[in-house]
Amino acid sequence: MIVTTPKPLDEVLDLIAPYSNILIVGCDGCTTPPRGLREAKTLSQLLELGGKLRNKEFAFEVTTTTKQCDVYLTASTLKPQMSRATAVLSLACGAGVQTIAGIFPEIPVFPAQNTHFIGTEEREGGTLEQRCAACGDCLLGETGGICPVTRCTKGLLNGPCGGSKEGKCEVDDEKDCAWNLIYERLEEQGKLVLLKVYRPARDYQKSGWRITT
Ligand code: SF4
Ligand code: SF4
Repeated sequence: MIVTTPKPLDEVLDLIAPYSNILIVGCDGCTTPPRGLREAKTLSQLLELGGKLRNKEFAFEVTTTTKQCDVYLTASTLKPQMSRATAVLSLACGAGVQTIAGIFPEIPVFPAQNTHFIGTEEREGGTLEQRCAACGDCLLGETGGICPVTRCTKGLLNGPCGGSKEGKCEVDDEKDCAWNLIYERLEEQGKLVLLKVYRPARDYQKSGWRITT
């Protein structure tokens, strides 16, 4: 899941202030917490109220997309409503916002969300934690399915650093030491030999900006 949080309402109102006909577009894809049609409607009501407090009248339309980062799906979903909009407010992650902005370059598109990371929710209502930094060279097969790039505070590819105490990280003792977790997982799987594998410095070019499919 892509973890996002809402921008403060005042910031969103500042962004859309010069425009009147705003199309609010949700996304039913991987954004967490969900930001679909229901959330788009709620946001339109809040913005309407916020606008009134600023003596500004907006006309909102709301819709949602199956997967806002899909150019074809998003173009065909939004085309009918676009002719009436003077600006778009997207509830998707940064990729979704940029997708709409690329399809309709003549219309200003604004983010209603801040995008944080690719993560997981350990249990419903619990905290959302980063699990993948899209490094482009996945090591999970060698580390028992635990990502050292995101879960080790120092991002060590050859851990542990030696500072771990009672399974906790020396930098943040509320956090489990990722390499301790990796050790325990590999031990459980009878694969401790993998800890002897040296992993060279990461090639950051692999997390590049374009992949040909
Ligand atoms: S090793 Fe890289 S691709 Fe694999 S989970 Fe970690 S950051 Fe993501
Ligand atoms: S204690 Fe563990 S998680 Fe913390 S920096 Fe060292 S190896 Fe990484």
